[in-house]
Amino acid sequence: MNSTCDSLYTADWLITQNEGRDIIHEAALAVAGDRILCVGHAEVLKILYPEARRVDLGEAVILPGLINAHTHVPMSLLRGYSDDKALQDWLQKDIFPQEAQLTPELVELGARLSMAEMIRYGTTAFYDMYMLEDAVFRAADAMGLRAVLGESTTQFFPSLAAKDFSGYERRVRRYAEEWKNHPRIRQAIVPHAPYTTSPDMLHTCRELADETGSLFGMHLAETEWETEECLRVYGKRPVEYCAQLGLLQPDSTFFHLVDLSEDDIHTLAESRCAGVHNPASNMKLASGVAPLQTLLRAGIPMGLGTDGAASNNAQNMLREIYLASLLQKVHSLDPSACPAQTALDLATRGGAAALHDPYIGSLEPGMKADFIALDLTLPHMQPLHNLISQVVFASNGSEVCLNVVDGIELFRDGQFLNFDYNALRNELRQAQAWIRKS
Ligand SMILES: [Zn+2]
Repeated sequence: MNSTCDSLYTADWLITQNEGRDIIHEAALAVAGDRILCVGHAEVLKILYPEARRVDLGEAVILPGLINAHTHVPMSLLRGYSDDKALQDWLQKDIFPQEAQLTPELVELGARLSMAEMIRYGTTAFYDMYMLEDAVFRAADAMGLRAVLGESTTQFFPSLAAKDFSGYERRVRRYAEEWKNHPRIRQAIVPHAPYTTSPDMLHTCRELADETGSLFGMHLAETEWETEECLRVYGKRPVEYCAQLGLLQPDSTFFHLVDLSEDDIHTLAESRCAGVHNPASNMKLASGVAPLQTLLRAGIPMGLGTDGAASNNAQNMLREIYLASLLQKVHSLDPSACPAQTALDLATRGGAAALHDPYIGSLEPGMKADFIALDLTLPHMQPLHNLISQVVFASNGSEVCLNVVDGIELFRDGQFLNFDYNALRNELRQAQAWIRKS
């Protein structure tokens, strides 16, 4: 690692999210290349690194970049297209037919729109699954975010991406070759869900993940309907079914995890796989309430995700941490459930576990320089009694004044720094034409 400090960021406060959850007052963060060199008191670091470029953020808090551990970024094109419906109706009648008309250009456009939103509202890394995902790989490469990306598949062929399952296999092998050793992007093999795939496909997908050195992810146990369907077809609950297919591995991540039995939670914990909670999507589609507290108590690493913008309708992790905490409180009728620190952990350290990336999620020497800052001067951020409370319960994303990924500034003081947002807005007219045509 480079030991010369390139940039020194100072601010009134810094939330490390390290093991001890240390918070530093009058803080500084030193960046060397794509890594954090150190964090500490501003006065000390200014003496240590007098030559470094200085960025003084003033009355602000620096914290680890938020990690959106489950989304479908191209679905921002469908934001507000179909609301107020249950998952199966919404998917089969509205979303799947519209998606059948997608092109790689539209996928890339939707991906760039979601990435702009994530950058603007404090996300630095995300785990995505969609169709024609090579367009998302290109968009993530250009937009500068860190990402785990997966070409999703179902058993219904021909699909947009392949004539048959062997075409899908060829496609993900090609992605593995094209994107290997990328500093910010990693591939995952991501079959859609137990109810849209066959056991053979799922088994082969898990083998493909091992063969190509990719991660493995899937929607799992999202609704009671899925459980009933799995029991009817395979005679097993979804988690048990996936466990017997060998899908539950330490590099696997399962999205939603709503309809779970005690045995299911025990099975997930034993396998050391990770999970992702999606409170807004689960509420909006009325899927149910994930037993988040029980999952965490069982020791399952849990991240937090927005899910796609068609079922949220935002890609804003500061909204999501707020909802995650409040949903657990009202569901358990216990105001101490999912406190602010737990909610922030989900979006930082938990997200790192869900992306299987040990170099993100906290601000410590040697970690990737992925961080954001929130402006504390805004009316809704005053007065300041408890910093973690302010971040989780008061912020809404408008206060994000800096977003840095891999040591590179992507957003600062209201400006996107590596792409033209107005040009992107112009391109979005295509999305309206696509909806009208179908
Ligand atoms: Zn999803």
